[in-house]
Amino acid sequence: MRLLVTGGAGYVGSVVAAQLIEAGHEVTVLDDLSTGHADAVPSGARFVEAPITDAGGALDGVEAVLHFAAKSLVGESVQKPELYWANNLGGTLALLEAMRERDVRKIVFSSTAATYGEPERSPIQESDPTRPTNPYGASKLAVDTALSAYAVLRGLGAVSLRYFNVAGAYGHYRERHAVETHLIPNVLKVATGERESVSVFGTDYPTADGTCVRDYVHVSDLARAHLLALDACQEGEHKVYNLGNGTGFSVQEVISVCREVTGHEIPAVVGPRRAGDPAVLVASSEKIQRELGWKAERTSLGDIVSDAWDALSGK
Ligand code: UDP
Repeated sequence: MRLLVTGGAGYVGSVVAAQLIEAGHEVTVLDDLSTGHADAVPSGARFVEAPITDAGGALDGVEAVLHFAAKSLVGESVQKPELYWANNLGGTLALLEAMRERDVRKIVFSSTAATYGEPERSPIQESDPTRPTNPYGASKLAVDTALSAYAVLRGLGAVSLRYFNVAGAYGHYRERHAVETHLIPNVLKVATGERESVSVFGTDYPTADGTCVRDYVHVSDLARAHLLALDACQEGEHKVYNLGNGTGFSVQEVISVCREVTGHEIPAVVGPRRAGDPAVLVASSEKIQRELGWKAERTSLGDIVSDAWDALSGK
């Protein structure tokens, strides 16, 4: 198929673009490089450097869109809510309008576990309440709501994939943020010498070792789900699926595995809780397994960290 991947110079978008090309699709990447990297765009893709509000020309001849272009830092979204509403909701509405003008009727959307907010139970299912606790999650949920309406009223075929904690690398495609807030890359930066120690944000949570538990899903598994989602886009329907590993790992466990994989002692300094962090976030991915046949394969934390480490250290 002829596909447009918005945000294809970013972490998840570049891996999905690479897998789509490997599967024989014709891919155009649209990215404004505000947080992405031109050298992350797979060599087989056509690259258009433009903002999401200017997707028009890049959509000509396209049969479906995979939409990743967005702002994605929870903390920044609290500081600058306008940026998140304008980019994530406003940008997507502009994209949907440009798609409608060209009769492009399929979209796979990069949604997030942040749409759920503080969970009532674990693992989280798609039918659970969505009560986001920050503008990032709220703006992504607003897009999910718009997609449902466009599906029913305009015949759009949409699939939203709600990611939990994406980690690992796919070949040389890896996580590279100017401002790094995520745990695994920050721990590995201690091993490369870029940081002296890692901060543990709270050890007084109601979990086995007192640190937060998250569901780390390998970016390669996550990306594969997008190809299945593309096949599952059906005009008039909006489907929502969680994407996680199904297992939770604590901050302490992540640091231990990073020590084993890198052979570095990785000093850890216990600090206060980070505002807004729920104690446990684990996905039920049972729905996508049942309906689309997706299953995470690289589920061991050792494999996830090893792949991130190999890409980071250039192995
Ligand atoms: N975390 C930490 N130190 C760091 C970064 C993150 O202790 O330098 C913790 C954070 O409080 C959370 C978990 O690691 O409990 C995962 O955080 P991350 O930012 O990677 O993902 P999130 O779950 O917030 O999307």
